[in-house]
Amino acid sequence: MASEKEAALAAVPSDSPTIFDKIINKEIPSTVVYEDDKVLAFRDISPQAPTHIIIIPKVKDGLTGISKAEERHIDILGYLLYTAKLVAKQEGLEDGYRVVINDGPSGCQSVYHIHVHLLGGRQMNWPPG
Ligand code: ADP
Repeated sequence: MASEKEAALAAVPSDSPTIFDKIINKEIPSTVVYEDDKVLAFRDISPQAPTHIIIIPKVKDGLTGISKAEERHIDILGYLLYTAKLVAKQEGLEDGYRVVINDGPSGCQSVYHIHVHLLGGRQMNWPPG
């Protein structure tokens, strides 16, 4: 299987539907940990920490990545981060956690539907790779 970096470099940035649309539409299975009318949070299929959750908006609205953010996206961007906090509490990440948004090839983004990574359950390092 390709590494995260190889997958990111092979990914073509576009506004086309992604695998996350299939997850939203329940066309492929995922382990959902939180869902409401605006966002969906599910366990990452290739976890990089004991807790690794992906949080996405249900409506992409052109927001393929953070670099495509416009003023109309401000509310959903805040909501995604607030959801990360809610899910971290739900997951019992009392000692802290990391919230990450990868953007573009250099940022190691492989899925072009904006998403927040919530990582926890181990000591993080800095700088990230
Ligand atoms: P990277 O692949 O470098 O982490 P992204 O920031 O775009 O790039 O993250 C996409 C994430 O989506 C990856 O962590 C990947 O493991 C996860 N993922 C891909 N497909 C699925 C899936 N079907 N179910 C859950 N997570 C998935």
